Amino acid sequence: MAKITYIAVVSVPMFSHQASMVEFCKRLISLHQHIHVTCIFPTIGTPTPAITTLLESLPSTINHTFLTPVKEEDLPQGVPLFEQVQHAVTQSMPSFRNVLRSLCSTSPLSALVVDAFANEAFELVREFNLLAYIYLPSSAMGLSTLMHFPSLNDQVLCDFKDHTEALKIPGCIPMQGHDFPSDLHERSNLSYKIFLECCKRFSLADGFLVNSFSEMEQGTVKALKEHYRGSNKASIYLVGPIIQTGPSSESKNMSECVRWLEKQRPNSVLYVSFGSGGTLPQKQLDELALGLELSGQKFLWVLRPPNDSTEGAYIVAAKDDPLQFLPAGFLERTKEQGLVVPFWAPQTQILSHTSTGGFLTHCGWNSTLESIMLGVPMVTWPLFAEQRMNAVLLTEGLHVALRPKFNEKGVVEREEIAQVIKGLMLGEKGNEIRQRIEMLKDAGVDALKEDGSSTRALSQVAIRMENFQGHA
Ligand code: UDP
Repeated sequence: MAKITYIAVVSVPMFSHQASMVEFCKRLISLHQHIHVTCIFPTIGTPTPAITTLLESLPSTINHTFLTPVKEEDLPQGVPLFEQVQHAVTQSMPSFRNVLRSLCSTSPLSALVVDAFANEAFELVREFNLLAYIYLPSSAMGLSTLMHFPSLNDQVLCDFKDHTEALKIPGCIPMQGHDFPSDLHERSNLSYKIFLECCKRFSLADGFLVNSFSEMEQGTVKALKEHYRGSNKASIYLVGPIIQTGPSSESKNMSECVRWLEKQRPNSVLYVSFGSGGTLPQKQLDELALGLELSGQKFLWVLRPPNDSTEGAYIVAAKDDPLQFLPAGFLERTKEQGLVVPFWAPQTQILSHTSTGGFLTHCGWNSTLESIMLGVPMVTWPLFAEQRMNAVLLTEGLHVALRPKFNEKGVVEREEIAQVIKGLMLGEKGNEIRQRIEMLKDAGVDALKEDGSSTRALSQVAIRMENFQGHA
């Protein structure tokens, strides 16, 4: 019987990161049946239904375990999500060590794959003598930004948000300072310092696994590899596009959405969603509602109650009925035009429906890849994290999205929203985008074929895991 290779993976307490890691594991074991995986999840409060539903459907060679949960009330309050997540990861380390010890005592592990933002776990890889990989559920441009960040930190003297010249990272599209990841905007913020520490720990990695594919980000990866040739032993593997294939947790919304989509014309519906926890302030929510109405286009909108923070519903799910926050008379006036779904919708099922012709997205990387792989042109509406950078990649690099303008108060006004939506759904630009995104999708499909670039990259990783005998 073939020898089994045991590995463990660690994520951060955020649905989108956990789900991407789980899908990565599913792909790894589907191609390399001799690898068995244990997924280890730091947790805040109780796991969300979205993640528990996903975990229920896993094959027997993927186990999972939740670390001792960190209480919501013990998290630092009024700070960025990234800081809260990092706090939870740090608090989970003793529990993580125990789990690792117990796993190693029954079946020796050969590798640990950690989410880029859980890499505090790397402090244990030498103790347990494991291969150490970073999994980045983001773009190669994201990896490049993180890898260059320590040196940019030395070179750039002002806050990145105030940097007036475009930042030029080799192989990446030049980026304005305000499009830099939001946690890196201001040096005085704790999240900036934590980020820097996190990026410095990248030097402990034996390899980087990125959820992208070389045909989409060839120049970026080439430049990154050249830049680090000789100075960094780690290899970079593009193993994507990895997108959600598991069941959705909301069967009630699922049937309602699908029934409604069935009644619409092909490519006529704009899907509107801000990820697993993104929120808008009330003023912006009003403008978006009125902009959708003004566009005259069909829409399916996943709505959460407004919040002054754009990261408002990641840790603590909102409970109020979101429909009460819509402008007066909106639902009545748009009852033939749109469907508003509270809190959560089966996103990949919606994007794969023939009636869906556009996606107004916050540009989280999972949503971005899902849209590309399901051939849906985008309107970019980045909120935080690296989403502005993704919007730059989608609009200026890949030309598969339109980006509305925010006014000087940071609000997108209804007329601008309506115009951009019409441009995407009806205009010539929209048609061109549709053609380009189809080509990108085909390249993504090819990357995952038996001899595709991402399949070959993943095989190299699997072989290294299978042959690993311990660090010398
Ligand atoms: N998602 C979903 N239904 C929703 C909202 C989100 O299924 O109503 C899924 C979506 O398909 C994606 C993930 O949640 O896989 C969101 O990940 P992304 O990286 O786009 O954004 P984040 O949640 O990290 O902001």
